[in-house]
Amino acid sequence: MLGLYVHIPFCSAICNYCNFNRGLFDASLKEQYVQALLREIASQGDGSPADTIYFGGGTPSLLEPSEIAAIIQACRGAFAVTADAEVTMEANPETVTPGRLAEFREAGVNRLSYGVQSFRDEELQRLSRLHSASRAADAFAMARAAGFDNISLDLMMWLPQQTIAQWLESVDALIALGPDHASLYILELYPNAPLREAMARSKWSLAPDDDAAEMYLQAMARLDAAGYEQYEISNVARRGRESRHNLKYWADGEWLGFGCGAHSTRLGVRWKNLSSTTEYIAAVASGGQPGVEKRELSRREALEEALFTGLRLARGIDVHTVKTRYDADVWGIYGAALERFREAGLLIYDGRLLRLSRAGMLLANEIMSQFVGLPVVD
Ligand code: SF4
Repeated sequence: MLGLYVHIPFCSAICNYCNFNRGLFDASLKEQYVQALLREIASQGDGSPADTIYFGGGTPSLLEPSEIAAIIQACRGAFAVTADAEVTMEANPETVTPGRLAEFREAGVNRLSYGVQSFRDEELQRLSRLHSASRAADAFAMARAAGFDNISLDLMMWLPQQTIAQWLESVDALIALGPDHASLYILELYPNAPLREAMARSKWSLAPDDDAAEMYLQAMARLDAAGYEQYEISNVARRGRESRHNLKYWADGEWLGFGCGAHSTRLGVRWKNLSSTTEYIAAVASGGQPGVEKRELSRREALEEALFTGLRLARGIDVHTVKTRYDADVWGIYGAALERFREAGLLIYDGRLLRLSRAGMLLANEIMSQFVGLPVVD
């Protein structure tokens, strides 16, 4: 079944490390944008079954609940969205109130993903986030009170000046709240990130690489002990609370993306919408196609990507499924290049499932790079 992604590119302020497709909130631009989204969704609709809707951003929780409701309705009108579809909205803690949360729920949102990043105020300030740790905890409690029984919290590790012990304070605070799902990311500083300048100015440094590895391993061990199951390199969940939508990206599924900069992959074809919010609105308003860079994936690209993303999953890649789908013998093609990782205990292969060990997850990029460039045809 399809996943439907809806991009909302507005934020109240721009965080100093952020490299997403987003801009400052502008009420009139937002209204035009929502109209464009409704039109794009209707124009793409073909009644196909879909079982997830995901509002990502940006900060989708800056939209009015009535706007979120209208977009969900447009999805339901254009696609056969299942009655039990997972409908996720990313939210920033400072944007929610009990009343708005109740209205988002009424609108059809049944899963919230809060960008918390840290439960330590000084770290949040270094990241120029608008919320405090206590505001994040309050936002979580408000969501539970509003009836949300599927909540994810995002944290970021390896922050400027952060020690392993300080990072684990945030992990413990997350566990104490008891979300249904959590995503743990390592901060990646893109070349011109304003945070780099702030770090240079304030003489903030990053802990050594070995500490970053410890942060990851110790956090995952604590989450294991608290009853969470790691199902992807950066994601853990209570049983049955894995992100159904994000699994489509990792498990070789199909999805349509609406809004500026959104990607789609369907029937072996991939495309991306215009990144600029205003150009996207203009393209949709003139009846044109906001999708650009449309191209058919070659068998080799599709295979490599299925392997790349599949290896991110804790369950790994089912080589029998890959054989059926791509007529490719994974171990026959890549086994020689992967053997040293298996011998080092970083990769586990039992003849059917090929997966990373937890230590292997730390070296995922290096291991996955072995999938690129080898001849696919035996
Ligand atoms: S709220 Fe999220 S999307 Fe917006 S600027 Fe901050 S990190 Fe980027």
